[in-house]
Amino acid sequence: MEKIIFNGELVERTGINIDIEDRGYQFGDGIYEVIRVYNGKLFTKEEHIKRLYESAEKISMELPYDRNSLEEQLENLVKENQLKTGIIYLQFTRGVAMRAHGFPGDDVVPVFIAYTREVERPESSMKNGVKGILVDDIRWLRCDIKSLNLLGNILAKQEAANHGCFEAIQHRSNIVTEGSSSNAFVIKNGELWTHPATNLILNGITRRVILDICKEQGIQVIEKPFTVDELLDADEIFISSTTSEIMPIVQLAKNTKSDILLNEKTIGDGKPGQLTRKLQELFEKEIEKQCYSARLFS
Ligand SMILES: *Cc1c(COP(=O)(O)O)cnc(C)c1O
Repeated sequence: MEKIIFNGELVERTGINIDIEDRGYQFGDGIYEVIRVYNGKLFTKEEHIKRLYESAEKISMELPYDRNSLEEQLENLVKENQLKTGIIYLQFTRGVAMRAHGFPGDDVVPVFIAYTREVERPESSMKNGVKGILVDDIRWLRCDIKSLNLLGNILAKQEAANHGCFEAIQHRSNIVTEGSSSNAFVIKNGELWTHPATNLILNGITRRVILDICKEQGIQVIEKPFTVDELLDADEIFISSTTSEIMPIVQLAKNTKSDILLNEKTIGDGKPGQLTRKLQELFEKEIEKQCYSARLFS
């Protein structure tokens, strides 16, 4: 049987009780991470753990473990479940307390759960590209926190699903921010543009790996807000996330619910563009480097 972690213990999934007064359950008061596992190894592990602690700090939540202990717990979980290709989902809520909006007392400790799931790499979608749809970004103004509160993201993703699209691309008064669970990029004349890592987007770890690759390869990156018109005028569009890696958007669907209404539009020639494909290759090399070759250190 697959194990999960509940408050630091490896247990059966069926063996735990979530309290109805858990603040995650009642308020979405908590934070989470999704970490990719390739070949039984955690990809960009340190970066995810670091972001988790940053998210915790931004909502004034003190996590009950230090980073090393948390890493060890997650690695044990992967080993125990013999996961090869998949993800770890982990979350901390602010704990269990009688329902009241304000923070509970210091005696209330965060509730931690983590589980693994087998998830293949989305190879055929990455090869052929997927459809996106433009939607309004209706989220709050602290999108830099990986919060359990995902209603805005959920409504955006459902709008995409309703139109047979893989992802919603959100814009806030004409500025493209990000996907519902991914970061958004456009390529124009060989330059890569993406929204700067402000409070209006979640600074994806995949995004950061891509930017590092570009720096190494001398590919020009411009972290600046760009408009919906610039999105439509792009040579290539892709989104990035832990589970979807680098996912080409080859078509935008006609939308019905945005301040900016668009007709269906094919991007480039309707196939993943050249620079997107190059970045996919380089990203795969990074996976190989981190998760397949024997590492000298660590
Ligand atoms: C998690 C997430 C991303 C992607 O981040 P990765 O670390 O690359 O998985 C982008 N946008 C939002 C809103 C997210 O929640």
